[in-house]
Amino acid sequence: MTKDIESALDSIWTATRRRPGLRRDRRRKDQAVTRPKTKIETLREVSIEAIRHWRRTQPQESRQEGGGNQPTREPGNRYLHQIMAEQWKQRWKQEAGKPHRKAATWTEGWDNQPLQLYDAVPKHVATAIFLLRSQVLGLKGWLADIGVPGVTPNCTCGAPRQTLQHVLAFCRDQIEARNKLIRRAGSTDLLELLKHKDTAPIAGRWLIDTGLLDQFRVADEVENTDTREWTPFQPVHTLHNPSAFP
Ligand SMILES: [Zn+2]
Repeated sequence: MTKDIESALDSIWTATRRRPGLRRDRRRKDQAVTRPKTKIETLREVSIEAIRHWRRTQPQESRQEGGGNQPTREPGNRYLHQIMAEQWKQRWKQEAGKPHRKAATWTEGWDNQPLQLYDAVPKHVATAIFLLRSQVLGLKGWLADIGVPGVTPNCTCGAPRQTLQHVLAFCRDQIEARNKLIRRAGSTDLLELLKHKDTAPIAGRWLIDTGLLDQFRVADEVENTDTREWTPFQPVHTLHNPSAFP
């Protein structure tokens, strides 16, 4: 959402500056309005400053570029990585501190490294976990909020807004998916389920079970196809086995 706003602002600025006509050409330099820096521009400046700082503080011989001295760049990369990781952490904390942040991603704190939640689960389940953790979901309430054309916020059951809370707790079309979730996890507390490696996939499967997100439909059908009747490939040697040709 922030990105959308940023890029919209950016294009307005660009359009203003590109507008043809004499007025712009006549405008004196000191009257020109400077566009505020975007976050990415600020980050770029930080990185350039970090590189300059690193170069200034290195002994002359270790920063000579010629002669294919690839290894001497390594410490510089490490230094830059540290600086940028710190920037990322600060920005993350700033965002996480905003009062409307309710998703697991923002409430669990920076130090909780969630990558292990995605280990050893099928890709579509990992995607569902990720969507639930960030709560950037393709449910209709959200799609209508961000202005996707032709989308109304109504739920399939007729409720005025299809939100995560509605689908999880109230939707009458989702009784079966909800019951499955309770049977598997013993709870519908998604925030809690999404914190742990053993329960996060159950939460992800619940989202897939709702059938509300198109991108999961094919993966779900493939997974639910009954393959028990399928004949496995026969090992090649059985073809050479004389008993196979009576
Ligand atoms: Zn509903």
